[in-house]
Amino acid sequence: MRVLIIEDEVRLAATLQDLLELNGYAADVRHDGEAGLDEALTGIYDVVILDVMLPKMDGFTVLRRLREAGGATPILMLTARSELSDRVEGLDRGADYYLTKPFEPRELMACVRALTRRQPELRNTDVLSCGDLSLDKSSFTLSCGERNVRLSRKEFDMMELFMLNQKQVITKENLLLKIWGYESDAEDNNVEVYVSFLRRKLEHLRSQVKIRTIRMVGYCLEYPAP
Ligand code: CA
Repeated sequence: MRVLIIEDEVRLAATLQDLLELNGYAADVRHDGEAGLDEALTGIYDVVILDVMLPKMDGFTVLRRLREAGGATPILMLTARSELSDRVEGLDRGADYYLTKPFEPRELMACVRALTRRQPELRNTDVLSCGDLSLDKSSFTLSCGERNVRLSRKEFDMMELFMLNQKQVITKENLLLKIWGYESDAEDNNVEVYVSFLRRKLEHLRSQVKIRTIRMVGYCLEYPAP
């Protein structure tokens, strides 16, 4: 799970980032509305935490532009202003949740958890399936018939991404962003290495599902029609 924090108060942003990372989320920070919107538009985030009063572009405008561009990422809005009109404005424009500063860390974490649970394709079930494969999200286990194998964290993240987007080609760039994040030194080569790990495990499971390479683009899952 990856969270974007758009907040100009540098210390608060850093505190939120620490809090999220402590709770097992990956978190990126942007300090103004424009940079935040660009980042949110990548679509790689599971939740965006968005401040209202921001330099360059205010939070309501970021929210509106994101929704106009088709971005459906759940938004948690933060504001120092507690007036009812702001709250109504935020919800009208498509914010999913509203939190007034100052707030308790556990209050924020409860909101983030609620918002990530609301994405049905991600949270409805603990088991994802594709062809003859199933991926158990609580135990990181990939199974095919009687055989099963445990995945490492990165293998699991990659397999989950493939299984959630079964009809789509996933670019190497997206895999890098979603699994390794911006700040890391990971390169295309890392993606190839993990794809090869997963392919070996699929072979071991004798699954009919294959990870197909789309030259110059990325990868997709391939499996015979039932
Ligand atoms: Ca602010």
